[in-house]
Amino acid sequence: MKKSDRQKVFDKYDGKCAYCGCELVKGWHVDELEPLVRNFTYNRDKGKYVHDGTCRHPERLHINNQNPACASCNIMKSSESLEAFRNKISAFVNSLNQYHTQYKFAKRYGLVVETVKPVVFYFETLI
Ligand SMILES: [Zn+2]
Repeated sequence: MKKSDRQKVFDKYDGKCAYCGCELVKGWHVDELEPLVRNFTYNRDKGKYVHDGTCRHPERLHINNQNPACASCNIMKSSESLEAFRNKISAFVNSLNQYHTQYKFAKRYGLVVETVKPVVFYFETLI
């Protein structure tokens, strides 16, 4: 990606992550809103799957489909659609209540207060 194109993506939300709204720092990612779904092949020499340079939806590789994202949002979103990403985040509280003793203790002692609200991404608040 050309540096000038990367800057255009960065500027879309004034240097903020399109999803959580945090200030982007060095190492921020370019996310494709509708995922490209990169293809990986197993590399025997490296002992792992590596991106082979192709993807299932090359037509989605354009600035209108690209969002600036902090590394954690981009990694969490992975190759999912926006709605799948939203559903994944919505399910976190249930998972915390089911499986995480530290979370349940923090909640029991009033250190965590849950709210019931929909997941709204930062860029959606700007529309
Ligand atoms: Zn983020």
